[in-house]
Amino acid sequence: MTDKRLFLHICCAPCLTYPLKRLREEGFDITGFWYNPNIHPYTEYLMRLNTLKDFAEKQSLPVVYEDDYALEEFIRQVVYREKDRCPVCYYMRLKKTVEKAKELGFDLFSTTLLVSPYQKHDLIKEIANYLANEYKIEFYYEDFRVGYREGVNLSKEYGLYRQKYCGCIYSEKDRYYKGGKK
Ligand code: SF4
Repeated sequence: MTDKRLFLHICCAPCLTYPLKRLREEGFDITGFWYNPNIHPYTEYLMRLNTLKDFAEKQSLPVVYEDDYALEEFIRQVVYREKDRCPVCYYMRLKKTVEKAKELGFDLFSTTLLVSPYQKHDLIKEIANYLANEYKIEFYYEDFRVGYREGVNLSKEYGLYRQKYCGCIYSEKDRYYKGGKK
């Protein structure tokens, strides 16, 4: 058990279910952090944000919301390197998480991105370790992917909205565009 204060970046409510359970078992004092300018369009962003607000309240989880919807900044960061956009996206979100964690005096940080088998797990870990070193704050690493299936079941149990694509407009295209074929 620990009473360390952990700042947890949250990508969405379904991905939060399992890590929240695990981190509570470990005894961390958890505060969530919402910062996801990578979710498009805005209606989808709002859907995921409101799903989290509702779930966090039910779970009595305090959450800091950085809700300025920095769509333009996100697009500027990835334009002309769309195929290599994910490292930029992870860096952007985790950097903001670390900055906020330092500002608010947390002991460590982590991210729910570590639960998804669809994300570039090792890259997320590498970027988080780099930022931990840069900003002198501990990164809590755990391979939450072992609980991915459990998390899916929990999110169904809680009736959470579950999105069909990662987040950015490019991932939405990857999911639905069939190259002009019917
Ligand atoms: S596919 Fe997902 S992780 Fe990659 S840039 Fe888009 S939203 Fe970010």
